[in-house]
Amino acid sequence: MPDHDPVSGLPTEYWHRLEDGRVQCDLCPRFCRLHEGQRGLCFVRGRRDDRIVLTTYGRSSGFCVDPVEKKPLNHFLPGTPVLSFGTAGCNLACKFCQNWDMSKSREMDTLADRASPELVAYMAGRLGARSVAFTYNDPIIFHEYAIDIARACREHGIKSVAVSSGYVAPSPRAAFYAEMDAVNLDLKAFSERFYKKLTGSSLGPVLDTARYIHAETGVWMELTTLLIPGENDSEAEIEGMTRWVREELGSEVPMHFTAFHPDYKMRQYPPTPPETLARAREIALHNGIRYVYTGNVHDKAGQSTYCSECGTLLIGRDWYRLSEWELDAGGCCTACGTPCAGVLEAEPGAWGARRLPVRPAAFARELEAAG
Ligand code: SF4
Repeated sequence: MPDHDPVSGLPTEYWHRLEDGRVQCDLCPRFCRLHEGQRGLCFVRGRRDDRIVLTTYGRSSGFCVDPVEKKPLNHFLPGTPVLSFGTAGCNLACKFCQNWDMSKSREMDTLADRASPELVAYMAGRLGARSVAFTYNDPIIFHEYAIDIARACREHGIKSVAVSSGYVAPSPRAAFYAEMDAVNLDLKAFSERFYKKLTGSSLGPVLDTARYIHAETGVWMELTTLLIPGENDSEAEIEGMTRWVREELGSEVPMHFTAFHPDYKMRQYPPTPPETLARAREIALHNGIRYVYTGNVHDKAGQSTYCSECGTLLIGRDWYRLSEWELDAGGCCTACGTPCAGVLEAEPGAWGARRLPVRPAAFARELEAAG
């Protein structure tokens, strides 16, 4: 683990000095301009000793083994366990945040667990996880830590998954995605109005990130949109979004439309009706997206994978539990031979719907004893 004092933080790379004496963080399109001692909007990067540092390197808000479908990723090693974790803070300010206890935390006491990149990779291996997911809060803000973990995991044959809003500047984006194997990108809406009003950010950089991942990397990508009644669920918006995805990212990027539950600063909104999710799915399929899912509701048909050519049920899902599996060893439909897009293996994983919270202390002792 890099040698740094958690109070003074880990020196970072993406920043520059301004003529007026402030220092600008260049990691995300907020480009916070900071005086000595100030923190950025994400709260975990700030100016110390005339440079930008990361204050959460090596610290986690908790670990848990989940099914990879929970990220959600339906075409990336289906049925396998993923070691999920997060830190604190976020570079967006979503009023509807569903993880606000961690992502909005300004209290570093949520970061109870210390975990070096080597320890995270070791834990994943010991727990049988096929991948590690940077989730709960956006990994872009702990860029250096996430990259070091991904590198340590790769040495152990474990893959890395980012769950991210895609709000990142181009240069750190390239460094970050060079180390990832899969991403679930939050496409929160398809209007600048929504992004400005409800997330305090903007849509343009997110679309740039999606285009970049698709065109410039080999990272497997799925998209998720939380549909909020009256804000981003109109048919016109879903039409526009799904046409853009088809034109810019192609037909094989899976899309997930998930249900909103009143939370954080948006408790006055109703939950998303299941019919809205079903209608969004219909629109996306009509516009040529091959794999479209509903989420956060019980909908076996809307959560299962079908062959884009002959309609055969390829992977049945009931919540996070897999049932049918009609893919051959090469990932093709057993009925018509059409390939199913994704990172697929001959057999599905057997993790099921389990959720296993993990404390790293015991693993740290084991790793230390192993030398
Ligand atoms: S990463 Fe944090 S400090 Fe840097 S620009 Fe974004 S919000 Fe500001």
